Amino acid sequence: DINGNIIPEKSRGGGGGGGDEDKIDLAEQSLLNKLIRRSLVRNRNQVEVLQRDPTSPLYSVKTFEELRLKPELLKGVYNMGFNRPSRIQENALPMMLAQPPQNLIAQSQSGTGKTAAFSLAMLSHANPANKWAQCLCISPTYELALQIGQVIEQMGKFCPDVKLAYAIRGNRMERGIKLQEQIVIGTPGTVLDWCTKYKLIDPKKITMFVLDEADVMIATQGHRDQSIRIHRQLSKDCQMLLFSATFEDSVWRFAEQVVPDPNIIRLKREEETLDTIKQFYVLCKEKEDKFTALCNLYGSLTIAQAVIFCHTRKMAAWLTAHLTKEGHQVALLSGEMTVEQRAAVIERFRNGKEKVLVTTNVCSRGIDVEQVSLVVNFDLPVDMDGNADNETYLHRIGRTGRFGRRGFAVNMVDNKHSMDIINQIEMHFNRRITKLDTSNLEEME
Ligand code: ADP
Repeated sequence: DINGNIIPEKSRGGGGGGGDEDKIDLAEQSLLNKLIRRSLVRNRNQVEVLQRDPTSPLYSVKTFEELRLKPELLKGVYNMGFNRPSRIQENALPMMLAQPPQNLIAQSQSGTGKTAAFSLAMLSHANPANKWAQCLCISPTYELALQIGQVIEQMGKFCPDVKLAYAIRGNRMERGIKLQEQIVIGTPGTVLDWCTKYKLIDPKKITMFVLDEADVMIATQGHRDQSIRIHRQLSKDCQMLLFSATFEDSVWRFAEQVVPDPNIIRLKREEETLDTIKQFYVLCKEKEDKFTALCNLYGSLTIAQAVIFCHTRKMAAWLTAHLTKEGHQVALLSGEMTVEQRAAVIERFRNGKEKVLVTTNVCSRGIDVEQVSLVVNFDLPVDMDGNADNETYLHRIGRTGRFGRRGFAVNMVDNKHSMDIINQIEMHFNRRITKLDTSNLEEME
């Protein structure tokens, strides 16, 4: 089950521990997720639906046919390889397509089909006979807007009369000439310019407004303000749709401001557990000793696939260089790489081109742990104060679902403080972490 998405969204933006200098850029992480994603994320949780009008029947669909889409659009959906609606789509699609229009706030982790859902809604909503902008979608960055545009173009492949415009930087337009495209996707700044300064879009004629990645959007004050300014110009009866991967209070307050009388759909992410993980620690004297222990483990590492976590980029680079010098073939995922480079490294690792991946905390968030059977904490996860970072520990080695594959975790301990951290982690999860002698690896078998 390789579906490529373990961004631990609860902690996105959290910083990921003391010395980890890779800052979490939410938009970059989201883009990385999109670049490496190939299919829906598995999630067996129940979808929670909160209806604005609880007395009206709750529609959910099990097939795309039930939506009574234009045949060209249905063809586009099937052409993408979608056989049936995803969990969130089952409820979100009928709501988004309902008459009279309904507002919606939808939250689910990335990879659950939100983008596909609102792309479908916009393509269905757009009336090709009308040559003006009708559906407006805003997204936090240029790259993310392009990603959405690609989905719309692909899904709308057999609807040649529905046109799409990109309101993104560098896309220069003549002032005052109204857009003919029915769907506009863009970033808040450019969209605002196109509505107010250039008057390419008449905001009063927008009948469907989509705000994607609300959590990423409000992480930038400027984007948040611009989004609200765009929203203010829209007509009162414009259909408002808001999507977010996470839902902290701040996102919620923003959502309520932008989406009046909403229906709410939520899909909680699957909990991670340590139940199927055997955890060990190895006592070492110092960095070089940790390296030796790692080399002793190397045979076990390459039986399946392993990820080695370091605390800093520098340590990750040092370790990679040393392992390579020993003749081992390892991949390095590092913070100075571009998102595209990171996606390429993850892709190679996923395809088994490399068996061992060295990474820092932040970079790793995009690798699906299900295929990784061994995780090595070359440095233990700690928070700003040097205490055990239990959440990060869980994200590094935990599995989702009760029947997640078995795995091993090996923690390198090189001083009293890191032994304390191991004890803290043991206590926190109430799970034993056993001592491992790397010169005698029978325990791992
Ligand atoms: P999100 O916006 O929640 O991150 P996406 O809409 O990007 O999720 O969907 C995640 C992945 O699943 C994409 O690769 C997309 O093509 C695919 N996908 C979306 N909906 C379906 C579906 N109904 N059936 C199969 N695959 C789907």
